[in-house]
Amino acid sequence: MFSLDNVQIILVGITHPGNIGAAARAMKTMGLSQLRLVQPKHFPSAEATARATGADDVLVNAQVFDTFEESLKDCHLIVGTSTRQRTIAWPVLTPKACAEKASECAGRVAIVFGREQYGLTNQELELCNYLVQIPTNPTFSSLNVAAAVQILAYELRISNEALKLENVNSSLPAPASAEAIAQFYQHLEQTLIDIEVLDPQNPRQLMRHLHRLFNRVQLFDSEVSLLRGILTAAQARRKT
Ligand code: SAH
Repeated sequence: MFSLDNVQIILVGITHPGNIGAAARAMKTMGLSQLRLVQPKHFPSAEATARATGADDVLVNAQVFDTFEESLKDCHLIVGTSTRQRTIAWPVLTPKACAEKASECAGRVAIVFGREQYGLTNQELELCNYLVQIPTNPTFSSLNVAAAVQILAYELRISNEALKLENVNSSLPAPASAEAIAQFYQHLEQTLIDIEVLDPQNPRQLMRHLHRLFNRVQLFDSEVSLLRGILTAAQARRKT
């Protein structure tokens, strides 16, 4: 059953500690408490605590990670926030639709926010099931990162309350974790190399397209096992 404690807010590469504090405050006002920081420039920091104004418990409990992949491992639905589309278009949700998807997920959900200077990289976005764009003035579309956290946190709160009223309980299992999906992609890539579909010297955008395909589907563990069985069989055929 969904609860706001299932939601991890992940901030990647934040340079201004004040933004971390403001994000913690934005989270706490909406009932969110789970904060993860990937390579923050300064943390812990007096400035972050000052800007949190009473939400310092969120900062004290924040987990710090060296890599984005590590911060996602135990998450089952990953949503990246972005002001713009990239070369290969990814499925985009509104904040409201994102909150609805999150509340349908039986597992841990990550909502990811990027650096003040340049947001999230293409490789980071590739690990996301969806992107969220907050509708804005097209000629001035970039919010302060803590303001973006506030909007997503608000929508999550509204969705969670609606869910409680409706008393809905999905019987679907959680999608596979990011860790299981990362292992599946490694297996898929190796198999494609083995069967000479993928040329490691000239990979083009094949894996990126496959990431988009499977991220959109949100495989269950049983489906990952099924596909990996097929990959293993293809590898074995190749070797004989
Ligand atoms: N110049 C950067 C924007 C950085 S803003 C870029 O072009 O990507 C810092 C972060 O705030 C973003 O990575 C994103 O997580 C969030 N953010 C800001 N504006 C947003 C918007 N309109 N929609 C979704 N996320 C937004």
